[in-house]
Amino acid sequence: MSNGASSVSNNNTSAANNQRQQKAKKYRHAKKKQPHKMKPHGERKSQQQQHNPSKQLEKQIKAQKKQQQSNKSPSASSSSQANGRTSSSSSSLISTLSKKLVGAKFRMINEQLYTTTGAKAKEMFEKNPELYHDYHDGFRSSIEQWPFDPVSNLVSWLKNKPKKLVVADFGCGDARIAKEAKQTTIHSFDLVASNERVTVCDIAHVPLPDDSVDIGLFSLSLMGTNFIDYLKEAHRVLKKGAILKIVELESRFVRFEPFKKLLQKLGFDLQSQLNPDHYFVIFEYRKNENRPSLDVDKIDPLSIMKPCLYKNR
Ligand code: SAH
Repeated sequence: MSNGASSVSNNNTSAANNQRQQKAKKYRHAKKKQPHKMKPHGERKSQQQQHNPSKQLEKQIKAQKKQQQSNKSPSASSSSQANGRTSSSSSSLISTLSKKLVGAKFRMINEQLYTTTGAKAKEMFEKNPELYHDYHDGFRSSIEQWPFDPVSNLVSWLKNKPKKLVVADFGCGDARIAKEAKQTTIHSFDLVASNERVTVCDIAHVPLPDDSVDIGLFSLSLMGTNFIDYLKEAHRVLKKGAILKIVELESRFVRFEPFKKLLQKLGFDLQSQLNPDHYFVIFEYRKNENRPSLDVDKIDPLSIMKPCLYKNR
């Protein structure tokens, strides 16, 4: 479960950062492009009430492809020049519809992940592994539009930490941190293994002994309705004095106070809170001597953080 490849491509990272800074500039002037406009849970129609946009789009794409094929066939009556024009405009329509389909699938799966437990989400992906890939296709295209990349930020931060520290990345996605950071032992956990660096598990129960980790990371992964269990699990596996970093969307918090109180009850001391771009928030905590208080189980997770639901754009 060690990351093996330890070198970080600094040139790539700084080129990517430059690109991001350019994007950030653009982004500040183009409000329309804001990546996620989040609506609190409950303001939205339930999934049953919504039409199924991905099915509709799939149908449209199929129909468009059929049309394109019949235009290409020798028996089609229009001239070859006209055919060429029709074919290229329908190709771009297919590409637009395909992008919409990726977005629609992403939004539906994302909503599932935020409104169910980690265990249920794991079941969903076990039954339909392709949903995980649909989710990550959409997630990747979202990241490309963000002015700030949480993973790059964490990788840079890890550069200043000793190589021998044991890291656990809870909800690692494609485990880019294990690929890019210099630490020798990086445990990467997610519901599906998109590559060999990932260990499959629900992060409410990770296969690590107590007090064995120096740095725990949650990057946009406190998704399930039982995310408090994930934090409890992180507390179990972290050593005393170990660091816990949490990157989240600022828009998930109505106020930060309830979240900070929860972390305190779980046995973590706040070290710092940063809000780059007022879009993301990065908390740094240290595990203290205290055991998690039992009354955390009575806390309503929705009083701490709202799900991040994307609008149809
Ligand atoms: N940390 C990565 C991926 C963020 S997307 C990044 O910042 O780029 C959130 C990830 O958390 C998804 O890959 C999702 O599958 C994972 N996740 C959410 N709930 C989980 C759970 N209960 N157990 C394991 N992984 C979980």
